Amino acid sequence: MELTLDFYSPEEELFLPLFKEKQVRVFVKRDDLIHPFISGNKWRKLKYALISAKENKQDTLVTFGGAWSNHLLATACAGAMFGFNTIGFVRGESVSNPVLAMCKLYGMELVFVTRTEYKHKTDLFHQRFENGSNALFIDEGGYGTHGMKGCSEIITELKQNYNHIFCAAGTGTTLAGLAKGIADHQLDNTTLHGIPVLKGGDFIEEEMKNLNAPINQLILHTTYHFGGYAKTAPELFHFIQEFVSKTGIMVEPIYTGKLFYALQDLVQKETFLANEKILILHTGGLTGFLGMYEKFI
Ligand SMILES: *Cc1c(COP(=O)(O)O)cnc(C)c1O
Repeated sequence: MELTLDFYSPEEELFLPLFKEKQVRVFVKRDDLIHPFISGNKWRKLKYALISAKENKQDTLVTFGGAWSNHLLATACAGAMFGFNTIGFVRGESVSNPVLAMCKLYGMELVFVTRTEYKHKTDLFHQRFENGSNALFIDEGGYGTHGMKGCSEIITELKQNYNHIFCAAGTGTTLAGLAKGIADHQLDNTTLHGIPVLKGGDFIEEEMKNLNAPINQLILHTTYHFGGYAKTAPELFHFIQEFVSKTGIMVEPIYTGKLFYALQDLVQKETFLANEKILILHTGGLTGFLGMYEKFI
């Protein structure tokens, strides 16, 4: 298959009573609709890595993630679609779950490594592929400049200007891309808001600087992690239940649930001026729900 993925990611206005009451307009960029398994920002982050692999005649994609990684699944699926072998180094002891089963279904070779081994990702890569060879190293979560470039295209696609753009952050690659897009298009009146899903989220700023992304229009809201990565609270589940049943838009507890929760909280606290337009990026990743579905029964 040619290396293109035609997709649909509209900007849809969300009509909720709270937004009306506080006189803000909120739109969702539906990157969750890009593809069921090369979901949201994961397609954005893979695109230029895959293009570079094709150009360099590399036939194997090697990447890294935890046992529920959306990025591993996206890489496995993209490999199958675009004709690459895929190898995923998985952090921690051998387990099975629906996400890893889908990775295997798409043909990914899974290699479980200890947490210590996992810290040395480039060593793992070089041990397996001694002389450079035909493999492309893609960092955990698609972190890197290829990923940033792909994510900057989100801004290019926008149909209107926004006062605020919101996005969840894990590695900060998506935020870096948005920041670059905002700067490239000179959107001087747009503030970029990041919601780190890990504790101590200020590190995201460093990760963005390492990618040479501008941070002068960035605000990080570091208090919406609910205890850390994949940590949750009853309040978060309650919010997700309400939100999904009222909007028909699916969110999950790892990333987008925390993101939409944060937005609601900030609107509630009247952080925005009347008539401001807010865009919230739905980064997809709905398989995260599968790891916690029991909380919703
Ligand atoms: C991976 C992922 C993120 C994190 O994106 P970064 O670019 O690593 O910050 C956000 N949302 C979803 C749904 C994801 O799967």
